[in-house]
Amino acid sequence: MKLKDQIALITGGSRGIGRATALMFAQEGADIAFCHLNDDAKAEETAAEIRALGRRAMHASVDVSDIAAGKAFADRVAAEFGPIDILFNNAGMNIRKPFEAYTEDEFDRIMAVHVKGMFFMAQAVYPAMVARGRGCIINVASQRGLKGAVNAAPYSAAKAAIIGFTRSLSWEAAPKGVRVNAVAPGPVVTDLTATMTDQDRQAFIDALPAGRFGRPEEIAATALLLAGPEGGFFVGATLSPNGGDVMH
Ligand code: NAD
Repeated sequence: MKLKDQIALITGGSRGIGRATALMFAQEGADIAFCHLNDDAKAEETAAEIRALGRRAMHASVDVSDIAAGKAFADRVAAEFGPIDILFNNAGMNIRKPFEAYTEDEFDRIMAVHVKGMFFMAQAVYPAMVARGRGCIINVASQRGLKGAVNAAPYSAAKAAIIGFTRSLSWEAAPKGVRVNAVAPGPVVTDLTATMTDQDRQAFIDALPAGRFGRPEEIAATALLLAGPEGGFFVGATLSPNGGDVMH
């Protein structure tokens, strides 16, 4: 087992990429605490699957853009489960529209969930990781933060910011034993992409060398590589399983 008896905190773990990662980490021996946003039924299903794998699970509805609530959840996880070894900073959402149509509130919401939320969730777990001299933080960016896309200006800006944040924090964290990396998935079949129009989805697939969207488990496998024993030399990296959408 690659994560035996480690404690992982996953934001946005009720469904999609977060859920697949929670299950893969649990399969590898980790106990899983996750938050979600008003998604209790799916969260309970995910928690039951984690427990069926013989690992502890806890979850709560916590909006990661609420810094105090995120910190309180991280503190609760540490108190109930023990010191957090891995943060999978994954919670996210999107609002799709042309650049000129975004309101200030929509811009602020996208930035608050992705940039502010990921930044302060990392800050919530970081001091204890530094004190132990070990820890792993994985921030979920997107191929849109590398290449951009139509109808996604604030989201792409937020995801590019996540990559910059990941690199910057790595400079401070790596000497203290905390590895920080990013995963920048291409399009994946989840509720998030279910809101795309059929036309947009088909255009996306037609332009992808892989000719298909990814599966959440394919992103979870990248997270496991970064979190597990084989990932020790990744520092400030952005790994991008993206079906060939961005080649670098
Ligand atoms: P999803 O909609 O299936 O799941 C999102 C999860 O985040 C859910 O658990 C939801 O409850 C939670 N969440 C949403 N807003 C939250 C908030 N404010 N506070 C706490 N939890 C919140 O989406 P997904 O596709 O699994 O996306 C997960 C991450 O992957 C996101 O950061 C997303 O931007 C990123 N991503 C997704 C794709 C894709 O194609 N699906 C591609 C690149 C990056």
